Amino acid sequence: MLEVFSIPMRTRFRGITVREGVLVRDPEGSGAWGEWSPFLDYGAEVAEPWLRCAEEAAAGDWPAPVRHLVPVNVTVPAVGPEQAHAIVKAGGCTTAKVKVAEPGQTLADDEARLEAVRDALGPSGAVRIDANGAWSVDEAVTAIGLLDRASGGLEYAEQPVASVEDLALVRRRVGVLIAADESIRRAADPYRVRDLEAADIAVLKVQPLGGVRACLRIAEDIGLPVVVSSALETSVGIAAGVALAAALPALPYACGLATVQLFHGDVVVDSLLPVGGNLSVGAPLVDEGLLAGLRAEPERVACWEARLAEVRALRQDRPS
Ligand SMILES: [Mg+2]
Repeated sequence: MLEVFSIPMRTRFRGITVREGVLVRDPEGSGAWGEWSPFLDYGAEVAEPWLRCAEEAAAGDWPAPVRHLVPVNVTVPAVGPEQAHAIVKAGGCTTAKVKVAEPGQTLADDEARLEAVRDALGPSGAVRIDANGAWSVDEAVTAIGLLDRASGGLEYAEQPVASVEDLALVRRRVGVLIAADESIRRAADPYRVRDLEAADIAVLKVQPLGGVRACLRIAEDIGLPVVVSSALETSVGIAAGVALAAALPALPYACGLATVQLFHGDVVVDSLLPVGGNLSVGAPLVDEGLLAGLRAEPERVACWEARLAEVRALRQDRPS
């Protein structure tokens, strides 16, 4: 029987209010764990590299770390300026990622939020924005200029427009660095971002790209600085992202791995929450008692067993 977890989210994210996934245990019995948590709308082909990431983790097959702390950003949702200020103050991080271009809001709302974030961080903090691809090219050029001023200087702008072609156009028209996030979902995507010179920074997530070692190879090939981000995982999944961030030869930017606090509960005792703006590096230790309290209902377990069977069938058809 699979270890399927089901954890309520504190806030709705990506339309999700409950996060589900599978914890994979080392078949050799070493005590290592991995997480397989492809989103429910993903088919077997997309979910397959996510399983490779879990298997690599459960096998304890991570590269040696070159650092023992990984700096992370606090994430500021599209909230009002007072709340944004409070979130940054409570986060204890020196880098803030601020959501912008929220439907129903104006550029003035974004400017007010960014001014508040800068005020809370102080002049030495780093402020980045994430538009999740919501702008057109012209909107992005205008907005990035305005928000660069409102924030007292942006570290970078993440996915201002949806397509990689448009990303390249925006990058040629603004003075702020551009990061690609949604443009990188499959293993071939980072190379396309590089070839089109569409971004200055690549946001990499270990599960969709097939694991820590696969991401290390991608990072080396594309020659762009990498920001490691989460796919909304428990501390078991986050630890794989931390392992990548810890193994990268250079890590010039804080990572987007401080997301465990979005969950009501976790499967490890020492959750991967930031201390002094950093996550510590190491293998996660699953707590059987905590896991028992978060175990999914039998019909959800059956759903995940079916998903896993589909991925395994796909592998048999097309051995990689
Ligand atoms: Mg993003």
